Amino acid sequence: MAVQLYNTLTRQKEDFVPLRPPAVKMYVCGPTVYNYLHVGNFRGPVVCNLLRNWLEHRGFQVHFVLNFTDVDDKIIKASVEQQVPPEQISEKYIFEYKKDFAALGLRAHEANPTVTGSMPEIISFIATLIEREHAYVTPNGDVYYAVRSFPGYGQLSGRKVDDLRSGARVEVGEIKRDPLDFALWKTAKPGEPAWASPWGQGRPGWHIECSAMACKHLGEQIDIHGGGTDLMFPHHENEIAQSEGALNERFSKYWFHWNMINFDGQKMSKSLGNFTTMRDFLQKHHPEIYKWMILSVHYRNTADFNPEVMDRAVTVLGRIYSALATAESLLPHEGEGVKADPAFEKIAQETWARVEKSLDDDLNTPEAFAAMFDFLRQFNAQVKRGVKVSEAAQGKALVFRDLIRRLGSMMSLFQQPAASFLRDLDDLLLAAKSLDRAEIDKLVEQRAAARLAKDFKTSDEVRDKLAGMGIAVSDTPNGSHWEVAK
Ligand SMILES: [Zn+2]
Repeated sequence: MAVQLYNTLTRQKEDFVPLRPPAVKMYVCGPTVYNYLHVGNFRGPVVCNLLRNWLEHRGFQVHFVLNFTDVDDKIIKASVEQQVPPEQISEKYIFEYKKDFAALGLRAHEANPTVTGSMPEIISFIATLIEREHAYVTPNGDVYYAVRSFPGYGQLSGRKVDDLRSGARVEVGEIKRDPLDFALWKTAKPGEPAWASPWGQGRPGWHIECSAMACKHLGEQIDIHGGGTDLMFPHHENEIAQSEGALNERFSKYWFHWNMINFDGQKMSKSLGNFTTMRDFLQKHHPEIYKWMILSVHYRNTADFNPEVMDRAVTVLGRIYSALATAESLLPHEGEGVKADPAFEKIAQETWARVEKSLDDDLNTPEAFAAMFDFLRQFNAQVKRGVKVSEAAQGKALVFRDLIRRLGSMMSLFQQPAASFLRDLDDLLLAAKSLDRAEIDKLVEQRAAARLAKDFKTSDEVRDKLAGMGIAVSDTPNGSHWEVAK
């Protein structure tokens, strides 16, 4: 069965057939780098990481390019405020973005072009548009795209040029033939960074950079163009007008848009005080919590982050990793010499078939996770924590671990040694409760000593005290084990 993707351009799910299989050319609009990125900025990277992995799993070779916007009003503003050159701002925040990206365990892209590194291509792209009469130069040296010269304008967002015109505004100082026209090149204002061009010193508009960079790195036609739904209009509409106007060919075959993240049902904004940078988030939460929250919602739906959703993510990851810890405790190093249990292997194959069907269906991650949970329940029913090592238990543990790791490898989830993941998760939960590991260890030892001395009154008291702190203690043949209740 083919992979199906929802194509914003045609407003339907379509079989994914790239222009020249097995190659897949994929371009995604990256961030403007003037500050730490917020958690909403990483939904795309997490979803696109899965998309790329899944297409590769299905035999395609994905060439994935994501740009950085390093010339922009916001960067200039930050550079003036902080009294440093603009490139110092953009270089710093590209570095910081890459740090967050790496902390999330996402695969690096094939190329991360920047505007400053693509200036000759941007200028020549604009020159082509002028030559083909899709753009014009104003007396002060600005260049605008003439929207009405491109009959297909509005095809992606489903808007009509005449409807748009009534809402269009002309900013002070702009000399446009039509209010809908948008800037390709802006004459430099004093003190602004500027580059030489046939139209004088200036800098490119935002939209043109993506057309030029996609063409430079991937060629004139691409298979997938991705971005958040907020970029659909006008940014992506303008990219189509530029690329198809200059190249006279369809620009991208598929348009892939992911939806926004809300906080407690509200849009994230600085004024509402619910603006969270990824850096802050990762100081308090494990990266897998973020990826789980993103992928447990279908990418085309709005994802809501709220305390309940976060608690649920912790519980769910705790359950998966606890089962993985059970499996790992049964297996010798890397599972060497263990034979897969045939009956359980059959269940795993059925599960994997369900996962494939779900992810082929426009990356239906909630369905894929539902299949995984059914599998998890079967494992937990058949292999209990603390069970004695036997050939049967090992055979099931091996099958379970391999399937969870295989699914997780597509999503950058479930790849860590389970014991250390659970410990990291507990450390973050303890920090959130202002509790100390050593203090809990001491109480757990006290309880064990009381039990040994058959002083059950004391042992029960200590257990209740621990329960009050949100710590669950369980007794296994290897001694007492505690974890933060999830
Ligand atoms: Zn773009």
